[in-house]
Amino acid sequence: MSKNYKIALDNKIFEIVSKASQELNLESYVIGGFVRDYLLQRDFKKDIDIVAIGSGIDLALKVAELLPNKPKVQVFKNYGTAMLRYKEIDIEFVGARKESYSEDSRNPVVENGTLEDDQNRRDFTINALAFSLNEKNFGDLVDPFDGSTDLVNKIIKTPLNPDITYSDDPLRMMRAIRFATQLNFVIEAESLKAIERNKDRIKIISGERIVDELNKILSTEKPSIGFLHLYKTGLLDIILPELTALNNVEEIEGHTHKNNFYHTLEVVDNICPNTDDVWLRWAALLHDIGKAPTKRFNKKQGWTFHGHEFLGGKMVKKIFERLHMPLNQKMKFVSKMVMLSSRPIVLSEDLVTDSAVRRLVFDAGEDVDNLMTLCEADITTKNPTKFKKYHNNFDIVRRKIIEVEERDHVRNFQPPISGEQIMELFNLKPSREIGMLKEAVKEAILEGEIPNEYQAAYDFVLAKAEKMGLKKVV
Ligand code: ATP
Repeated sequence: MSKNYKIALDNKIFEIVSKASQELNLESYVIGGFVRDYLLQRDFKKDIDIVAIGSGIDLALKVAELLPNKPKVQVFKNYGTAMLRYKEIDIEFVGARKESYSEDSRNPVVENGTLEDDQNRRDFTINALAFSLNEKNFGDLVDPFDGSTDLVNKIIKTPLNPDITYSDDPLRMMRAIRFATQLNFVIEAESLKAIERNKDRIKIISGERIVDELNKILSTEKPSIGFLHLYKTGLLDIILPELTALNNVEEIEGHTHKNNFYHTLEVVDNICPNTDDVWLRWAALLHDIGKAPTKRFNKKQGWTFHGHEFLGGKMVKKIFERLHMPLNQKMKFVSKMVMLSSRPIVLSEDLVTDSAVRRLVFDAGEDVDNLMTLCEADITTKNPTKFKKYHNNFDIVRRKIIEVEERDHVRNFQPPISGEQIMELFNLKPSREIGMLKEAVKEAILEGEIPNEYQAAYDFVLAKAEKMGLKKVV
């Protein structure tokens, strides 16, 4: 006897779908994420997937007709699906289908099918669970692959042969790893091997889809789980080779350097409790990518990575382009964070001077707090004395940022004396001299020689101009 979960279906919408199905004389089921998350007692997701044994579009239209507010139905004829919104919840309707795939596409040939066919095409046993919405057995769980046991045992497993499931739609490999990370589940050994065998098939998946999954992995509490799976299955090498290039430790004359791949994963995990901003998490993931191409060894300094931050910042743009990520402010933000990622650390290792803090605030601008969050996550030293020292110094840097900002307002720096004002003073047209004077004012403020105020800047410009042989016009 199948278990009954009528209790899960107390939302009025299920009663209405059931009634609409009866009127159309077809069967319907709620399937996938809703059922999974209910059984997991996981925070409810916002959308509900309904499968109709018959036309999903007709069912959606009927449901809308029965709803008091007669919501609009969005119909996607090509996909045979329809969607409507009910009290902030998206409800998607699809006709049960049978799918067959060809080699070069993740878009299958689709035929009408039974509930069983439809469950067969689902990616994982835990996503193939359905609750009946039919009058005769309303609330019964339909679980042909024993997904409910996999939920209890925390296992990700495909309903059919994993090689076929993954090869048919290689996005499922990313989804397996994403669910394992989100739910803290284990991927069944056979499935993992199949992912390894089918990894190259990921190349037929668009960058956007891959990034959707990467973003979901990065949004979890412990993204390293996902990135380690991606690494071990060989997918990461295809998607983000810049990261796997960091996974080595070389030794020359007894000098080694740290493994920057594992360090990176630690940084990503470290940053998660302190930010939900997925772009800052991306910055953590990419902060050291410039280290592989800049790595050098010399006898005097040992291993060096000169200029890795600058190169890393440039590589960010290339990665965003390759994966079809947005080339907007978000990309600029990640790139800027990578470029500045060593600055606070360097600061905190040394004596924290006002002028160094002022320069940091000037360069990072409104992103300075995010930069501090990134750099604190970057402290992965296992030496407790060093760990404490860096964190103490970071506290000093944070305090100084507030102090310096209150006094000098360099976060969104506006010069206290403008180029036009300087031109007027000396009756000059735009010229190299004006540029030099403006730069000298900025430097004097950052160095703390003068406060960020008009009168001080005016006096400074006069003195500097005199040395340059410029005469003030009266
Ligand atoms: P989440 O909303 O957290 O991503 P979900 O399981 O609801 O979880 P959706 O992408 O909304 O994910 O998919 C809904 C359902 O459709 C899944 O539970 C699964 O049954 C099925 N599904 C989605 N994508 C695939 C796929 N690539 N291959 C097979 N079945 C899929």
